[in-house]
Amino acid sequence: MKITFNLILTLAVMLTMAQTAWATDETKTFTISNASGSGTITYGGNDFLVPVANMMTMAPSGGSITMRTNTGGNEGTVKLYPRISGKVKSLTFSSARVMFSDVVGTEHYVKIGKGDIWTNSYTENMNTATALTFTFTNGDGLQLANEDDYLEIKMRNSETTRRASFLISGTLTITYETTASTLTHTHNFSYNAVGNTLTATCAHDDGKECNLASSSYQISTSLMAPTYLIYHDGWNYPASMSGFENFKSETKATIGSITYIKTDTNEDYGTSEPDATGTYTASVTITAGGTGYTLQTTSFCVTDYHFVYNNYPQFTTDKEGNYAGNGQTVTITFTPKFGEMLTGLTVTGATTNYSLGSGITDNGSNTYTFTMPGEDVTIGATFSNWRKRVHHQDRQRLGLVLLCHKLRLGSRRLQRQDRETRWKCQFIGDGRQERSPVQGYVRRTGQYADL
Ligand SMILES: [Zn+2]
Repeated sequence: MKITFNLILTLAVMLTMAQTAWATDETKTFTISNASGSGTITYGGNDFLVPVANMMTMAPSGGSITMRTNTGGNEGTVKLYPRISGKVKSLTFSSARVMFSDVVGTEHYVKIGKGDIWTNSYTENMNTATALTFTFTNGDGLQLANEDDYLEIKMRNSETTRRASFLISGTLTITYETTASTLTHTHNFSYNAVGNTLTATCAHDDGKECNLASSSYQISTSLMAPTYLIYHDGWNYPASMSGFENFKSETKATIGSITYIKTDTNEDYGTSEPDATGTYTASVTITAGGTGYTLQTTSFCVTDYHFVYNNYPQFTTDKEGNYAGNGQTVTITFTPKFGEMLTGLTVTGATTNYSLGSGITDNGSNTYTFTMPGEDVTIGATFSNWRKRVHHQDRQRLGLVLLCHKLRLGSRRLQRQDRETRWKCQFIGDGRQERSPVQGYVRRTGQYADL
């Protein structure tokens, strides 16, 4: 007999452990003096009491909150967000007053619930603060689907000249039956703003699975400067948020409007988007966990654009349509068409006079760069038909390049010299006379084009 009893007990314990959504009553307590705000009252950075109809502005005063209808006769409603998921059984205010003034209509009340499910109603004036408990009269309670779900506090004095009021202080303790959903992880975020990025880091300290585990328990959002910055008359250049929707869904953060400062003229654009050439920064404030964090972009420059004129088939630029913004780096690529060599390169405009090594940088591999000025410019070039034929080192191991140019038949020089000579050559080296003649045409090194 005793063995059988122990077996039943063991089975009962096992069944209890297997039932993950095991219902237990829990309580959550709010300290009214910790609530803040006016109209909508927040608690811990979240909405707590939100007037929705026929209510005077509510504001905490001296650790208490007054909810009051703004006209008699009509029902006033306040949403209460306890931020729990489960079935609410009762709500206990440690110190509360219900007031209908001296003249009350026939249907007057203060009650809590939603839809068809309500607690008991209080219909008597409470002239001194007392503990009040609202209990759901269906014996079952009111299910809150998730932490964004709410209860309603409704009050009414049907006497048209008088109001209904509900004053609370001390604490509010909510007794509720947990459901499986409240056993899931709740983020516990701390926030850090650096530059244009706000990062929320979850402490994941409740021993439950956090969906941000794969991102080091972090989620962030950034204010991004516009990337298209070439000025067109009538265009705007707005900054934008990156990743805010996901950030908001995890953190319940709210965001203000993006504002701009034109830093080159110190002009406050407010919420107007940049619309003129110049340098700007953009800012935005995100409120998360009850604190405002201001993000700011690095400065960005909306620039005028000009044309890079190019009459040579040997050159291309990296700018679509050969338009470039003031201050942008333009890359010119040289592609020989007839075996020619580039011997000089210029970029000129009304006030621009760039040449190789003076405004134009040779980056090797037949690429050259310059910084676009604020005016149209034209590419200019000189070429040589000298071709590299030999490359060797002399006795001093100095680098030498032998360049040769095939002479055309009929050339005066060719007629004066050996008619059999088909090439005119020079050494390009370190500026010395080269002794070894090549077909009698060896020259001093140096200028390609002078030969
Ligand atoms: Zn988390």
